[in-house]
Amino acid sequence: MLEKVDFLERLEEEQRRKAEELKEQIEKLKKERKAAILAHNYQFRAIQDLADFVGDSLELARKATELDVELIVFCGVRFMAETAAILNPDKEVVVPHPLSLCSLAGMLPRDYLLEVKKRHPKAATVIYVNSLAEAKAEADYVCTSANAAEVVAKVEAEEVIFGPDANLAWYVQRRNPDKRIIPVPPKGFCYVHLLVRPEDVREALKAHPGAEVLVHPECEPEVQKIAHYVGSTSKMLKYALSSPSRAFIVGTEVGHAYRMWREMPERDFYFLRPDMICGMMKSNTVEGLYLSLRDLRYKVKVPEKIAERARKAIERMLEL
Ligand code: SF4
Repeated sequence: MLEKVDFLERLEEEQRRKAEELKEQIEKLKKERKAAILAHNYQFRAIQDLADFVGDSLELARKATELDVELIVFCGVRFMAETAAILNPDKEVVVPHPLSLCSLAGMLPRDYLLEVKKRHPKAATVIYVNSLAEAKAEADYVCTSANAAEVVAKVEAEEVIFGPDANLAWYVQRRNPDKRIIPVPPKGFCYVHLLVRPEDVREALKAHPGAEVLVHPECEPEVQKIAHYVGSTSKMLKYALSSPSRAFIVGTEVGHAYRMWREMPERDFYFLRPDMICGMMKSNTVEGLYLSLRDLRYKVKVPEKIAERARKAIERMLEL
């Protein structure tokens, strides 16, 4: 069972109806254009159902390099589509909405990062994939929430500049006590995950005793400390698949509960907060997806000078 929340259902129903109307045309265009649709776990359910592949940013980055297609329609946020474009210079990448930006990514401008690097000349720089391409270009490594702690563990330097999410930096520090993590900026955050308070966890457990609480490392430390499991969306999924529990309270963007329920329809999934909705992720609609395939819009291009340097940092992560 997937928990039903009225206002969410209305949004999802609208997209489901549009998908029914446009499904055939989307399939036809996909063949004509030799295209694949990649969708992040936070997308509307109808978009996840139309996609060739659904995953988190690490899975999507990997998948993008494996596809034998000419066009990738990327249903996620801009930085993810940029990562796909950087790794696939020979493929066209389009996004359904021109302003599907991530507010967290905007919190680490290149100039600020360069200033911090100057102050810590011996530190290595590990930049979360939720960042601008120009910041990735200045990194030694890129990481995702699925592999952040592991990437930092493999870095040789004792000091590591890490950003832009400060809660993820805390999570990484906790798992790498021998390193000194320098969060840049000191208080970078994702507004969706910051909504969660420890009281939400306690209340959800009262309402669903016996359920396990899974939260994303972008949630604040006090929340991470009392959850049963902390991990990226792909890790939450793996954890639930191997857990004997029948019910889970999902503490990340609401779209992910659908992905989990699709994989485990015999179990129960509840939202830690039903208002954990990322407006940027949800700016992609089924109609936008159809138009991006039909009109080849909106193209994602990263200037080659930046792409070349960012590619090295991303590839180092993929090698690890
Ligand atoms: S959920 Fe947060 S980190 Fe993810 S795209 Fe939205 S604002 Fe960015």
